[in-house]
Amino acid sequence: MGSDCNGSSASESFVKTPTIKFTKLFINGEFVDSISGKTFETIDPRTGEVIARIAEGDKEDVDLAVKAARAAFDNGPWPRFPGAERGRIMMKFADLIDQHVEELAILDTVDGGRLFNFGKAVDIPQVAENLRYYAGAADKIHGDVLKMSRELQAYTLLEPIGVLGHIIPWNFPSTLFFAKVSPSLAAGCTMVIKPAEQTPLSALYYAHLAKLAGVPDGVLNVITGFGQTAGAAISYHMDIDKVSFTGSTEVGRLVMEAAAKSNLKQVSLELGGKSPLVIFDDADINMAADLALLGVLYNKGEICVASSRVFVQEGIYDELVKKLEEKAKAWVVGDPFDPNVRQGPQVDKQQYNKILTYIDHGKNEGATLLTGGKPLGNKGYYIAPTIFTDVKDDMLIAKDEIFGPVMALMKFKTIEEAIQRANNTRYGLAAGIITKDLNVANTVSRSIRAGVIWINCYFAFDRDCPYGGYKMSGFGRDFGLEALHKYLHTKSVVTPIYNSPWL
Ligand code: NAD
Repeated sequence: MGSDCNGSSASESFVKTPTIKFTKLFINGEFVDSISGKTFETIDPRTGEVIARIAEGDKEDVDLAVKAARAAFDNGPWPRFPGAERGRIMMKFADLIDQHVEELAILDTVDGGRLFNFGKAVDIPQVAENLRYYAGAADKIHGDVLKMSRELQAYTLLEPIGVLGHIIPWNFPSTLFFAKVSPSLAAGCTMVIKPAEQTPLSALYYAHLAKLAGVPDGVLNVITGFGQTAGAAISYHMDIDKVSFTGSTEVGRLVMEAAAKSNLKQVSLELGGKSPLVIFDDADINMAADLALLGVLYNKGEICVASSRVFVQEGIYDELVKKLEEKAKAWVVGDPFDPNVRQGPQVDKQQYNKILTYIDHGKNEGATLLTGGKPLGNKGYYIAPTIFTDVKDDMLIAKDEIFGPVMALMKFKTIEEAIQRANNTRYGLAAGIITKDLNVANTVSRSIRAGVIWINCYFAFDRDCPYGGYKMSGFGRDFGLEALHKYLHTKSVVTPIYNSPWL
């Protein structure tokens, strides 16, 4: 596709749109229409065509879902089960996902433009593994015995927080669904989940599988709909105990404000980023170019931890620029069902237009376009891998999160300069360092204010490894046991002790 990219044409489709089985809200174990009866279109970004109409939930539907989740929490079995029983049901849920890998991967590809082969081999199998990881933790939730300083004995109990609201974005519909759902199920919470309006399909399918696995009615509810209506109803709700939000920094701010203005519910925020990748002179050029490209083109740049600011030390700058140009031009853009393709379409027209506007800003601000900088194909939302050189730290393309396949390439001289410029951002989600020098790696990794640092690798995610932001990238962690603790309260129980021979 396009003059400087290989690949398929958006009009050649490798897999037809699947039959969509679930299009309604999932409340109290049943698929139901929205109270208003309204629906909205979910669109295939390969073509811009409608895949299905989905029930549009609003405040009244959120109220019903919260009522169901509240009843399931206050009176239902889920929080009262032994952890092992929750774990057993979660394992069954994971097995059901394994039995439907292909169908689920297709849904995320047609809805969000994710690479099908990747979804089938990685995303969907990994969400089943994520469920198993937390299923294994469900019967190992325990507090501490406290050594008090006077005649008191005390212990802590870890209790589920209660009813949760999970609001998620569209870029990793399955991964982010389970980043929230798995630890909160293990903790014994009940929940209302709002997937992004762009990608509602797999979330509804997961609700169906949860029921088949034996998750009791009311524990897991899915409300499809828009942010300003259904999303806001969740964040303002007086009977939701915590909102876990993943999305943009702007909306994260609104969610926090809503919590403050309603019941002071707890909030955790996984927000945007403008992550630096710092490449030192001693780097292997080939490996550095591969990681830099992957860091910004993976999932068409629609990833919060994209390495959208690449700082290259002056000694290897020219050589790296040549390598990047060569590799970017060979990067295959096209239908995400095509196994040769490495980059599918942007999620929707709005995102596509936003990225193209930023590319225009880059050109107007005086950066030099090395590759791409234009749409590809005559159908769907494809954009060529774009690299800008001669970028200055104060240009918009170096400051704002673009969330698209656009790299800002910059040169630096010293380690001190690299650290200072890497930190010169309001975000703090991730960073990458490429060097063979352990001392440089240690100094830089400890100096960068970000939640995840990858040394000589990028996107090295794992369910064991907590992940989240510093600064305006948010607070709270997904993955690892930290995510489980995010959905637990600590209760201290204290009694006096009399006539003890020791404290
Ligand atoms: P978004 O903030 O527009 O939407 C995210 C979710 O919030 C959607 O479900 C949306 O419907 C809902 N929403 C919108 N307005 C709302 C409101 N007023 N009240 C409550 N909910 C509302 O973000 P997006 O465009 O879907 O996703 C892209 C953003 O997500 C990027 O900034 C990206 O960096 C971020 N993101 C962060 C992480 C992370 O882990 N830090 C992961 C993925 C994406």
